[in-house]
Amino acid sequence: MSNNNTKIPQSISKKNESEKIHRFVIAGGSYAAISAIKVLGNDILPRMIADKSSNFKIAITVIAPNREAYWNVAAVRIISEVDLLETNTKQLFYPLVDTFKQYFPPEYLHGLNIIQGKVISVDPETNTVSYIRLDDNGPANDDFNFLGQELFYDSLILATGASSSSAAFKLNGTSEESKSALRELHNSAHAAQSIAIIGGGGVGVELAGELGYKYGKTKKITLFTELGRALQYLKPKISEKAIKRLEELGVETVVNHRAVSIVRDDDSYEIQSPNTEEEHPHEYNNDITASKTHKSTSNELKPLTSTSTNGRLHKLIHLHHGNTHGDNGTFNESSSDNSSQGSLDTESSTLDNSTHNYNHDLSKFPTYHKKPSRTTITFQDGSKATYDCCIPATGNTPNTQYLPDGTLDSEGYVLADSYLRMLNDNPNKNIYVIGDLLSGGRETMADISNSQILSLKATLIHDVVDSSYPLKKYVISPPSYLVPISKKGGVGTMNGFTVPSVVVTMMKGRDFRMEESHKYLE
Ligand SMILES: Cc1cc2nc3c(=O)[nH]c(=O)nc-3n(C[C@H](O)[C@H](O)[C@H](O)COP(=O)(O)OP(=O)(O)OC[C@H]3O[C@@H](n4cnc5c(N)ncnc54)[C@H](O)[C@@H]3O)c2cc1C
Repeated sequence: MSNNNTKIPQSISKKNESEKIHRFVIAGGSYAAISAIKVLGNDILPRMIADKSSNFKIAITVIAPNREAYWNVAAVRIISEVDLLETNTKQLFYPLVDTFKQYFPPEYLHGLNIIQGKVISVDPETNTVSYIRLDDNGPANDDFNFLGQELFYDSLILATGASSSSAAFKLNGTSEESKSALRELHNSAHAAQSIAIIGGGGVGVELAGELGYKYGKTKKITLFTELGRALQYLKPKISEKAIKRLEELGVETVVNHRAVSIVRDDDSYEIQSPNTEEEHPHEYNNDITASKTHKSTSNELKPLTSTSTNGRLHKLIHLHHGNTHGDNGTFNESSSDNSSQGSLDTESSTLDNSTHNYNHDLSKFPTYHKKPSRTTITFQDGSKATYDCCIPATGNTPNTQYLPDGTLDSEGYVLADSYLRMLNDNPNKNIYVIGDLLSGGRETMADISNSQILSLKATLIHDVVDSSYPLKKYVISPPSYLVPISKKGGVGTMNGFTVPSVVVTMMKGRDFRMEESHKYLE
């Protein structure tokens, strides 16, 4: 993976003046980009090599924020069984550089260039893309990177897909971000007593099935869907089966509930008082503030506050018992601000040394426990629900902000002609579109590999190598959906036929096709 390539690759020999380099730029680093690379390696390059009369060479630059591709098909299983990140990492994450280089003979590898970055604009008139370089922590920290770098292309393939509600479900950034999001959702669901899943599409239903299978008997799990039924793209009978299956696993499905806001309360406290008369622990929310002048007593229930050196206010979560050193005591905080950890600023604290002697038996003080954060969901009808863990699975947003408005449909997807050339603002007819960002596409990996790529291949051969090569129209693939609902069953449809539950398990639910991932990502 090259991180410092700011120029167009120039390394291809120019001994022969008539030699021309055709520069492909691919934006994106997931299923669609990998499919495009395969076409360039398997179909374009061999034709160029075979055509002895031409002196064409190709140079390929891929720009993507991620360095690894991600088998997100298994996302819901990983949230339930997070150890898969370690045990099956090779089936889940594929280094792009290893995948790409397989498709080019060694003597052509110098023409392959991979940039960790993000496309920020395209100028179709001058055939240039602008991008900023990234590393795994964000924008690369070097001079003028923030201004963007420019790259010339002869052909530009847009494969920047669509982002999901959580990086757990898709590559919204680096693969490390996706791994963190998967771990976070796993931990949050594991710690929760109640779990809400927002979104009754395939991802929401699959996730509800996974979590229901694991926790349905011990936790409250609710699937909210904005429509009258889940899996609205399947026949009503299939939806009913899915809801029944979820019910058997202990998941309640609530229909006609459109969530309009999801607010996580990160500052929820449970305070255990040493006063035995206090039967129920109190809950404190964000709006509770402690008086600076308050003199705390052992039986009062007030959140403690301290001010860190940067002046921010923190709530103190837990007072260690057994501190007998006569100092200010040590505290664990939820704050990530290290400057305030383990110390208490007595000036601003409600714990005032003049009224407290820390040689006291500290078991008389209340103990502050950080509770698992709670999330309040507000629905369109004004009703609210509060859950320990809330996982939105509410669909995708196309990653097309770098394109002019005129190139997009009303939802931000890229308009293309029947041969996957960008429809508008494409004066040189050399910008192509593939994957989830395509307007009118199916937004499935299957559609990319069964249908879109066949059309793109023909168009690229026709436009770049051989104008007599027949074009092939993109025809959206027939709807085929397999929706496992736990390891033990599921629903689905293929080419209009209902798929029996046992077949869904065999084809997908068993391992979410991890064994096949290499066919798509390698
Ligand atoms: C949980 C889940 C399960 C799924 N299961 C299935 C399934 O079983 N079968 C199926 O057929 N489909 C499935 N899908 C759909 C499938 O994931 C998508 O169709 C597929 O990811 C689309 O691939 P893509 O390459 O077009 O885009 P994406 O996968 O969205 O990737 C976009 C790429 O572009 C990069 N990018 C974004 N912005 C920029 C930028 N400005 N510049 C450069 N690069 C950028 C991203 O980092 C990423 O590398 C599932 C989807 C989800 C969310």
